[in-house]
Amino acid sequence: MIPVFDGHNDFLQRMVEAGPARDALWLKGDGTGHLDLPRIKAGGMIGGFFAIWTPSPEGPNDDAAVAQMENPPFALDLPDPVPATEALPHAMAQAANLLAMERTGTLQICRSAADIREAIAAGRIAAVMHIEGAEPVADLDMLHVWHTMGLRSLGPVWSRPTIYGHGVPFAFPSSPDTGPGLTDAGKALVRECNQLRIMLDLSHLNEKGFDDIAALSDAPLVASHSCAHAISASSRNLTDRQLQVIARSKGLVGLNYATGFLRADGKRQSFAGFDVILAHLDHMLAILGEDGVALGSDYDGALMPLDLSDAGKLQNLTAAMQAHGYSDELVAKIAWKNWVNVLERTWGA
Ligand code: ZN
Repeated sequence: MIPVFDGHNDFLQRMVEAGPARDALWLKGDGTGHLDLPRIKAGGMIGGFFAIWTPSPEGPNDDAAVAQMENPPFALDLPDPVPATEALPHAMAQAANLLAMERTGTLQICRSAADIREAIAAGRIAAVMHIEGAEPVADLDMLHVWHTMGLRSLGPVWSRPTIYGHGVPFAFPSSPDTGPGLTDAGKALVRECNQLRIMLDLSHLNEKGFDDIAALSDAPLVASHSCAHAISASSRNLTDRQLQVIARSKGLVGLNYATGFLRADGKRQSFAGFDVILAHLDHMLAILGEDGVALGSDYDGALMPLDLSDAGKLQNLTAAMQAHGYSDELVAKIAWKNWVNVLERTWGA
């Protein structure tokens, strides 16, 4: 079994929805979704980023949006901004659930690379607390509060605009160059994250925001769950130029398994096999090198390929990489070592 460290999941929303059944959901699973402790163990997953994410108020067009994503070309409207006062209760509930998972003794919220090593050695899931879309970070003082609670990774935006910057709308085909760059508050956020050594996540940012962080940040550039735009021309994927910028910073990209970001035709539609996944990995390796490619599943947040349909199937992917001719050392780097190394360089030892 090859260990897997994963760059992005949305499991915490399921924990919140489970209410009093949350511990059972984590410890035993409920047969739905993409991950829980038994499937994490079955798939060899040793750790990963657990995202805190604020939902948009449900729109009348949610089903229509899915239908559009199944039939490219499409360009969805950007969701409306959500104020911090609305986002905070959602975010706190998700953070509270991650803390509750830690209290079961099966998972550890890691604040340093040493914590990650300790958790792995003890057989606990090494979790990174991540915020996807900085709506719950009302200001820099609150960033310090989140840091004290364990936050070690932050994406300034999801799809919605925030006070810090602008995300890409979901669109195919589309360039990621879809709007203005970071606001002044966003630039201050980058500097404060650098000071606190909170990892900045570039996934979801538009291209100008990406370039602003690349110019400002003193940390390796990281996109936790994105794919190659050259293969799937989604607004959410990274152009070769962006991959080169990340490579120059000695940063990393976590491959997203979302079918709509993988498929060359951009369809939100499942598929069997690993050919297109390996094509993305080959492309990213050619630009980022062996130390710059990792995994970022998007489990519990996207429609998955059939052979990676939950965390219990992660060894299908490592086996496909080996069958494709990647060396054991390269598979280990992509599967977990690169994540631990980039976090160590970002956070300090
Ligand atoms: Zn995402």
